[in-house]
Amino acid sequence: MIQIAKSRPIPAPLPTRGTRHRQQLEALHTADPAACEVPDNTILHSRDGIYNDTGVKTQLRADQHDKCCYCESLFTATSYGDVEHFRPKAGYQQEWEGPLHKPGYYWLAYDWNNLFFSCQICNQDYKGNYFPLANHAAARAKTHHDDISQEKPLLLNPALDAPQHHLTFVKDAIKDLDDRGKASIKGYGLDRPELIKSRVDHLKGLQYARMVGAFKFTLPLDPREDEFLQELNLTIAEGKQAAAEATRLWREAAFDAAEFAGMVRANFPHLPQQ
Ligand SMILES: [Zn+2]
Repeated sequence: MIQIAKSRPIPAPLPTRGTRHRQQLEALHTADPAACEVPDNTILHSRDGIYNDTGVKTQLRADQHDKCCYCESLFTATSYGDVEHFRPKAGYQQEWEGPLHKPGYYWLAYDWNNLFFSCQICNQDYKGNYFPLANHAAARAKTHHDDISQEKPLLLNPALDAPQHHLTFVKDAIKDLDDRGKASIKGYGLDRPELIKSRVDHLKGLQYARMVGAFKFTLPLDPREDEFLQELNLTIAEGKQAAAEATRLWREAAFDAAEFAGMVRANFPHLPQQ
């Protein structure tokens, strides 16, 4: 994870259609608050046509450089991805795989600050409705009259929190630095085997880029340079181009737009971040 800057202005359907439907949801809740707490009720059902609008998704993707807000995978070549609600809109779980409490944060279903772009695995296989608070009993916001600023979420908010203060990486392995890091690794599945494999491959690719980037291809060739050119059937000029591209990959590996930038920054703190 890295911190994400949410751009302005807020995409069109949220302040217009989103605000109108939020007001309808709030009126439904006001009419019968108890009914909205009954398990399995769908009184406060939000409209995915609003928060899933193309303009919303496009702006989220641009802000996040097409990466998942949690795992930082560049996954859009093989899957659509979800518009994800940080505070779950339909119901919440305080405990991992615990009971689902209703209602959810229905009044934030169209709130730009509550929306992110995530891969389906982080969102659907892991986080889902899990939204634990450190002060659940005292400060859980349960209606649109309550103040979410009093809540102390255990999950890291990609826009508000600096993830590097709560979790870090030792090579490909993710480590928590406090309770919020621990909850986020579990809640977002940041230590799942498939993701660790992707991070291992990414680090190997960077090590290779660092090595190739150091090749000069001036005569007489170093034996490793000669082997590189012969194996890839490249001319010296093409080898120089490959070295320049490898150097660029290495130098930009910790940029916001780079895949797994959080892991790269933890391992190579001297690399520029922009
Ligand atoms: Zn993800």
